[in-house]
Amino acid sequence: MDVRVRFAPSPTGYLHVGGLRTALYNYLFARKHKGAFLLRIEDTDRTRFVEGAMENILKALDWAGIEVDESPTVGGEYGPYKQSERFDLYAEHAQTLIDNGTAYYAFDTSEELDAMRERQQAAGIAPKYDRTIMRNQFTLGEEETQRLLSEGAPKVIRLKVPVAQDVRFTDLVRGDIIVNSREVDDQILLKSDGFPTYHLANIVDDHLMNISHVIRGEEWLPSTPKHVLLYQAFGWEPPVFAHLPLLLNAERKKLSKRHASVAVGDYIEKGYFPEAFVNFVSLLGWNPSGDRELYSMQELIDGFNLERVNKSGAVFETQKLDWMNGEYLRSKDPKDVASGIADKAAEMGYDVDIDYLADVVVLLRERVTFPADILTLGDYMFTPTTQWDPEYIKKAWKEDTRSNLMPLIERFRALEEFTADNLQAEVKAYSKESGVKMGMLMNPIRLAVTGKSVGASMMDTMALLGKERTMQYVDAFLAYIDAQ
Ligand code: GLU
Repeated sequence: MDVRVRFAPSPTGYLHVGGLRTALYNYLFARKHKGAFLLRIEDTDRTRFVEGAMENILKALDWAGIEVDESPTVGGEYGPYKQSERFDLYAEHAQTLIDNGTAYYAFDTSEELDAMRERQQAAGIAPKYDRTIMRNQFTLGEEETQRLLSEGAPKVIRLKVPVAQDVRFTDLVRGDIIVNSREVDDQILLKSDGFPTYHLANIVDDHLMNISHVIRGEEWLPSTPKHVLLYQAFGWEPPVFAHLPLLLNAERKKLSKRHASVAVGDYIEKGYFPEAFVNFVSLLGWNPSGDRELYSMQELIDGFNLERVNKSGAVFETQKLDWMNGEYLRSKDPKDVASGIADKAAEMGYDVDIDYLADVVVLLRERVTFPADILTLGDYMFTPTTQWDPEYIKKAWKEDTRSNLMPLIERFRALEEFTADNLQAEVKAYSKESGVKMGMLMNPIRLAVTGKSVGASMMDTMALLGKERTMQYVDAFLAYIDAQ
């Protein structure tokens, strides 16, 4: 079988991280099986349409490195499939079902439908269209139906769901599923405005686009029996289904905006690497081998297996994403990272060349999540330290610190070659001679030079700053302390 899959978002807002995971799993599956990955914009519901939402989806997919395989031309423009450009098809297909007797016209007003639901609720039964009593082709008869149609009375087309039949399908993630058709509503297929519902348009397109596997979020599982019945009504072979587990927050509740950003755009803006984000999102519900966490797109493709997707929800932990981002940061060429933050550095008023910036990246990349953090954490690498953390002064600067430290500072000043090794040797030798512990020397030096309690190795930091700047910083700090 030729593998053909689709990502079918509705342009109703931003792209949710769960949507990106669906897109990714479809993409990984298509690439693994040398199949096709289609993008279909399901924009039939004009009331929920949000301007710019499609562009937002396209941008996010592009950022993530997910390439779409088919871009049909409509009116001279290339782009994804859009259901709004295929309306006639759905109406024709609804007509096919009317003709073969698996769908019917219904003329109920919304008041009549509300009244039906209220009666059902009062009687303690689940609301469901009751075709034996409502105003439709069966209760009105053929003649009256034709008369209403010719008058142009408001109508919908509904699926004639079999009365009591087992609807079966196999889900690659959840196994065999059987639902009795009694539980399935006579779904509206074509609305009174002539627009198709999601169900009709989705099935018609999946069939016409030769979709082999429908891979989508678990929230669509309850719709699947309807879809299977629709395939039956058309006499078509249904695709294989795979429903992906929910995304959960740390408390194992459904992930929502209240717990974390759920819009992919927010993660793009925060500065995550696309490779890190793709890696992280891919492991929400599946892992290629289980023995590690970091995978390239190609490794994800090679290892992808729908049967190994978990049934239980996947916990979305941003700490893990942050860790991954840091790992990607450390594995990148420092010059590339430097180029990525050069504009930001200039914006912050730092006048530095790329080579120096790359050296600072190497110095500080172990300690940050985002490249741009290097510019704030390591501000002293670009501009003289003028502020010293008061809390850290209290901790690191004691009564005897100055007298203990000054001889070492003078030894630094006298160094010919201001390298990390030489600095290290001086500190060691001086500590041994004077009996002052290394920590009692290095903490005040860190304080004086960086103003902060955290940072990279001080020997490396000082070596990169060079003798002149290091000594300037130390002198400025001593002057500051004296002025207190
Ligand atoms: N338009 C639906 C959505 O927004 C598509 C669901 C499906 O993949 O069938 O997710």
